[in-house]
Amino acid sequence: MAGNEAALSAGADSAARLGAKFAGLDTRELMRRVIADLFPGRIALVSSFGADSAVLLHMVAQIDKTTPVLFIDTRVLFAETLAYRDELVNHLGLSNVIALEPKPALLAVEDPENFLWASNPGRCCEIRKVLPLAEALEGYDAWISGRKRFQAHTRNGLALFESEGGRIKVNPLAHWQAVEIRDYLDAFDLPRHPLVAKNYFSIGCIPCTSPVRPGEDPRAGRWRGSSKVECGLHTLPLYAGLDI
Ligand code: SF4
Repeated sequence: MAGNEAALSAGADSAARLGAKFAGLDTRELMRRVIADLFPGRIALVSSFGADSAVLLHMVAQIDKTTPVLFIDTRVLFAETLAYRDELVNHLGLSNVIALEPKPALLAVEDPENFLWASNPGRCCEIRKVLPLAEALEGYDAWISGRKRFQAHTRNGLALFESEGGRIKVNPLAHWQAVEIRDYLDAFDLPRHPLVAKNYFSIGCIPCTSPVRPGEDPRAGRWRGSSKVECGLHTLPLYAGLDI
């Protein structure tokens, strides 16, 4: 087996082992274990500061307010998201929120008019999201994502732990339902993203986000009218230096 394949296989084994070991553990205890015990100083929460983000941000703040929180600022986010980020950071006392941005030189060459989202959304997400995150994750062995199975049929089989590019990805909320998110936000009286009140239940970039209609999946408002359903953060291997 080639070296890279062996590493990937070992990573998949680790993810499966961790998933079996921690299945059924209370989510807050799981968060404490991965941040403080399993990957101390080597794990980051990746947060969009979107509709449900306050749950994991609150848990992180209870464990260690200096935990790195990576926030991908694509430069085409809603002003409400940026204001909500600032509100939550202050409210929770988070002290290590790191903004990741696309490279200006890449934008100048490939998206000078901020219109790549219309002509080539896959490439737009690569430049604005995937590459900045891939580079930032170079310094970590693991990262935490806020994905949930209920969000879309494409996430039905989401595991608690995944292996990706030699790194472990933790999905502590994989099994949570929408009502549990709401109850948690209520229980701790956490601020809400202002666009949720306008039926935005999954919030990304302005050009690719629309309100959700009754009966739709929470992510139905993302890339509406297109076959695209994911930005690439969870579908492409995140290797910095990758030609993406
Ligand atoms: S979500 Fe849309 S605007 Fe944002 S990076 Fe992807 S294609 Fe570009």
